Order: sequence, then structure tokens, then C-alpha cells
Amino acid sequence: MPELPEVETIVRDLQKNIQGDVIVDFWSDWKKSLKNISFSKFKKEIQGIKILEIKRIGKNIFLNLSNKKTIYIHLKMTGHLLIKTKKKKNKYFEEKVNQYIHHIWFLCSVNCQQKKRQRKIKKNDYDKTLAFSDLRKFAKIKLIDTSKIENLSEIKNLGTDVNSKEFTLKNFLKLLERKPQSLIGNILMNQKVMAGIGNIYRSEILFDAKISPFRKVKDLSAKEKKNIYKSIKKIIQKAIQKRGTSDSDYRDTQGRKGNFHNYLRVYHKEGEKCWRCPGRIVRDKIGQRSVFWCKECQK
Ligand SMILES: [Zn+2]
Repeated sequence: MPELPEVETIVRDLQKNIQGDVIVDFWSDWKKSLKNISFSKFKKEIQGIKILEIKRIGKNIFLNLSNKKTIYIHLKMTGHLLIKTKKKKNKYFEEKVNQYIHHIWFLCSVNCQQKKRQRKIKKNDYDKTLAFSDLRKFAKIKLIDTSKIENLSEIKNLGTDVNSKEFTLKNFLKLLERKPQSLIGNILMNQKVMAGIGNIYRSEILFDAKISPFRKVKDLSAKEKKNIYKSIKKIIQKAIQKRGTSDSDYRDTQGRKGNFHNYLRVYHKEGEKCWRCPGRIVRDKIGQRSVFWCKECQK
């Protein structure tokens, strides 16, 4: 499942490439993904409307429109968004993983809008598409009022975004205080406490901080907590810089894999020699999810 760095990569691509575009049409062959609105109503509401800005909260994507509505997208397990231009060829789009297209937004870029300014923009006036590839078809799309983003059930109970300004050391320590009995490996992935860390980065962060995922929050020293905080910042920022990790289906908006797999130290490396010490990486479970770590150097 895409975690914060992967969703952030997609959002930055969208900000760069489709902000200011006008939606001229919408197509879908899996209308069940539209959770709070019918296909025909959704299409009618967004046609001819400009995309003003794109935002991310946790793993949630928001396309704010000029009619005070917002398209809400959650990629879930295998969803990813591809920006295609009519003219440019792109070999990555031909890969199987990028071919499970179930929704398409047809877009008229700022350039295209200028060309058509003499008359009303029509359905066929698109020069770009935003295509939604989703093998498992678990992704969610909603249309909501922009003013009500905070009221969305997916957002209301979300903890502090670990890549936001609010995520300071002071705040992190406060968040930990809420769950003293929790295992550190658990609380990092608890989206109600802090948002954005999933399976991949939980293991990488704790390896970087040299902390066992099975330590209880209340037993961590002040120094250890500070180290974990530093590792969260470091790993998340590095992963964003490397455009995420393509563990399975995640691809960026050009259909390319993220580069962070070159920097993974423990995730999916069970049995391999530790990067830092003579130990070997093991795979354990916390709850239902695997955690990868080195028993020798993570204490
Ligand atoms: Zn080790």
C-alpha cells in the first residue's frame, strides 16, 4: 500500500502538472469506486470546472475545484494516478502494472484553454488525461464540499501528519504519552496517533534509530524517543526525495517505480546479513503485519 512518501510524490507531480487544468470529461468502468455520488452526477458536477489546487493529508489526496467542490481520492492497495499527454509517448505506460485503468479525467491544460478562449471548451478539447490504474479496485473516490474536508470521516480521526509543520519533537513526545503501553512498532503505524507511516517505513525508521519494534513506549528513554523522532524525519524525507518505494504496484504519475528500494536496509530482507552488524535480519509479526529488524543491533 502506498505510504506517505509515495502519496506525497504523486501529489507533487499533480501540483506541477494538472493544477489550473479544466476537467472536460470523465469516464469510468468501475463506478463502485464513487462512494458518495452517482457516476452521472459526479460527471455533471466536475465538467467544465478548473482544478485549483492539490493537497495531501496523510495518505489522502484532495483536488480542490473552482466550484468549491473537492475530489477526494484514496489509492488503497494498488491505486496509482498517471498523467498522460496526447502527444508524448511513454514506454512505462505499456507495462502491465499501469494498464488497469478504471477511471479517466480528460483535461484541458492552461495552454489548451488559451487556444480555445474564443469559444466554450467542449468535451473533445482535452490535451491530457489523468488515468487511475487500480488492479484490485479498492480505491475510493468522493465528491465533497471543499469547506467540509475536515469533517470527512477519513480525516476526522487522523493523527498528526508526520511530514507536516505540526509534527515537532514536542508534539511527537505528547503523542507517545497517549499510549504508554503500546509497542513502539505499533504506535508508529497507528494512523489515529500519527499519519503516514506504514509497513515499509516503520521497519526502516526503527532500524535507523536502533530500537527494537517490541519495546513498550513507557520503557523508552528520552534520548531513544528523540532518536526515533529524528529517524522518522530522516527516512520520510529521504523516501520523498527518492520518489517512494515500489514494493508492489506503486508507480509515479509517469508510470515509473520509486527509487527508495535502493536504500531499504531491513524491509523484505529477512535472512540477509545486517547492513550495520554481523547479525541477520528477521521477520516478525506485530498484530497482522510483518516487521523486519535486527535483534543484534536494535535494542
Ligand atoms: Zn544489526
